[in-house]
Amino acid sequence: MNARVLIDGPSELVFDYAIPAGMGVQAGCRVRVPLRRKSATGTVLSIAEPEQQDFALRELDSLIDPEPLITPVLLRTGEWIANYYGCSIESVIRSLVPEAVRSEENSAKTRRIAVLEKEPVPESLEKLAKRAPRQHAILTLLTHTADRRLPVSDLGEGNSAALKALEKNGFIRLETEEVRRDPDADGVEEILEFKPLQLNSEQEVALEQVVEAIAHPDTARPILLLGVTGSGKTEVYLQAAQRALDLGKTVLVLVPEISLTPQTVRRFKSRFSAMQDQVAVLHSNLSQGERFDEWHRIRKGLARIVIGARSAVFAPLPNLGLILVDEEHENSYKQENPPRYHGRDVAVLRAAFEPCAIVLGSATPSLESWHNTQTEKYHLIRLKQRADGQSMPLVRVVDMRLEAAKQKGNLPILSDKLRTALEQRLEKGEQSILFLNRRGFARSLQCPSCGYVCQCPHCAVALTYHRTDERLVCHVCGHTSIVPRKCPECKSPAILLQGYGTQKVEEVLAKVLPTAKFARIDADAMRRKHALRDTLNAFKAHKIDILIGTQMIAKGLHFPNVTLVGILNADLGLHVPDFRAGERTFQLLTQVAGRAGRGDLEGEVIVQTFTPHSPSIQYARKHDFDGFSEQEMEFRKAFSYPPFAHCGVLTARSTHERRAEFTLQTLHVRLKENLPADMVLGEVLPSPLIRSHGQFRFQITLRSHRARPLTRHVQAVLARTTLPEDVTVVFDMDALNFS
Ligand code: ADP
Ligand code: ZN
Ligand code: ZN
Repeated sequence: MNARVLIDGPSELVFDYAIPAGMGVQAGCRVRVPLRRKSATGTVLSIAEPEQQDFALRELDSLIDPEPLITPVLLRTGEWIANYYGCSIESVIRSLVPEAVRSEENSAKTRRIAVLEKEPVPESLEKLAKRAPRQHAILTLLTHTADRRLPVSDLGEGNSAALKALEKNGFIRLETEEVRRDPDADGVEEILEFKPLQLNSEQEVALEQVVEAIAHPDTARPILLLGVTGSGKTEVYLQAAQRALDLGKTVLVLVPEISLTPQTVRRFKSRFSAMQDQVAVLHSNLSQGERFDEWHRIRKGLARIVIGARSAVFAPLPNLGLILVDEEHENSYKQENPPRYHGRDVAVLRAAFEPCAIVLGSATPSLESWHNTQTEKYHLIRLKQRADGQSMPLVRVVDMRLEAAKQKGNLPILSDKLRTALEQRLEKGEQSILFLNRRGFARSLQCPSCGYVCQCPHCAVALTYHRTDERLVCHVCGHTSIVPRKCPECKSPAILLQGYGTQKVEEVLAKVLPTAKFARIDADAMRRKHALRDTLNAFKAHKIDILIGTQMIAKGLHFPNVTLVGILNADLGLHVPDFRAGERTFQLLTQVAGRAGRGDLEGEVIVQTFTPHSPSIQYARKHDFDGFSEQEMEFRKAFSYPPFAHCGVLTARSTHERRAEFTLQTLHVRLKENLPADMVLGEVLPSPLIRSHGQFRFQITLRSHRARPLTRHVQAVLARTTLPEDVTVVFDMDALNFS
């Protein structure tokens, strides 16, 4: 047998080695190998039969640790991912074990400790005081510390001879101790304990069913917890987690993105503040050393609650009792690079393999998960009431076509209704959130005379006008250019500004509400470290009246004093070439509307739209998930879209347009041969984003009722097709992004 080894180091080299007789090596093991004339370390990715070869492979040198870094359940999960998504087991194992853990450069941080071995009698102390004052000083210090041990570094410089002598004479023992690099050690955040709340009856029922699943994981189905915004899902998560811990089990909490869900993370930290060091938060900004330490703390069972985004689904928790997936509908659970797995779906698989209980929670579940409750693959639990007894916020829809006529040709930004509502909130000392589905000074330049739009030469998307530095920026590839004074096409000096961004909203507000204090949350404004946290804290402390933001504010934020949420351009995102556009719009509107009226005050939501009658907007207005899903599912079924079929996208890209297209046409012909009966093969089409990063992109969409045969068919065709060197082909199973 041969071992395929990923060599440590930035170049990510992979080589095959022969396994010496008698060496018990498995996938996930750390090994030492010969590399050129040196020796190197690496991780075994897979063990396979040798292929026919005309040269002999070199042998592995030795096993660094017979215990593999990957547990059997995680290895099984990894194999499932490779199979289902059609990617190499190598790429999966790279994700399974973070680079920080594989790399030889990272190891546990240690320190030397001096431990008192025998209590010195007064005579020997006296003798030492005269003969060896340093030894005397160290002994005196040690006898005066409570636990009779001190880090050597605390004893000052130049003591090594004295320590050696003391050790030789049996007074002390020198030990090595691991030190944890604690990501929270800076202590910026004070965590106050937050006691369990008395559950209402809906929550009580939900908790009991989750607890039942924790107790009988082998027979329990995955649970979909569908609770309206503010129904107290988080409290159910917290108490369920407590029950799993009480049983001596561990808990994994997945959130869409750590930085965007600070309140959820904080609530877990506060609830379990008494066991703070047993909570591990896997941020993307952990240092390599911190990541190494957290990973080993988790594997040893020292961290019993792990909170993290998508990749935390691979956290090596032993004795897992419960997985919680918060906001399960969020697209960020899908990885956009190989392996292109969906964190939620992998979590469901891992739960089955462990086995352990799993809860997927959302106010607007994905239609995939919803469908699984209809077919009874998942168990549905609902929370229909807000936990604090408040009613759902009132949602008004404003027809912006009428506003446009009123404002005579100008693109309306703030309707009269929304402006008046903002004024009322200011008078009453209440806060508002304005939501905009774009970032930056996102205006495109369009010529009113000839219709010319300034576009990125690499990506074929409209460039965005940034006012602060007077330039046009491509938000796909970052290309910048100067702002033309005249239309490049017809030379007309009138260039109309079309569309707008958060900065423009800020400008309009400053004019109509001069006394209001506002702040902006978008990717541009939040570039500075801690900017997001600082702005949210200021808003919470009511130093800001109006918060203007993009998608970033749609997630689990909770502000009791917010009574008005304005959605400025609800249509944006409705008119994109993606069958999930309606679902996304419904989710976004419902989530954003859920930010209003979360305290003792009643909330109001104003939605501005050019298409007031679209079902996504109307059902979101009534907080009617059932109504929305019913009509949306009909459409999905009629066109055989997910969740009634699996959908994979095959994309080819190249700097040569013809070659990308031709490659895909060749693949199309081969895919058509022996096409399994229920499979639908789409045509070769330019991607909606035909040019990106200087490359041309074409795609084929495939659909099938069964997932595995779809992946297998595509893999088989790819395996027997030689691709031109300058064409890259990628396959995305269960794709969420069709751009
Ligand atoms: P969700 O996660 O479903 O949006 P949250 O868990 O954020 O809802 O709960 C909304 C608010 O209701 C929070 O302020 C929370 O503290 C409060 N809450 C939750 N459960 C209860 C309860 N049983 N009694 C009183 N307040 C509760
Ligand atoms: Zn023009
Ligand atoms: Zn570009």
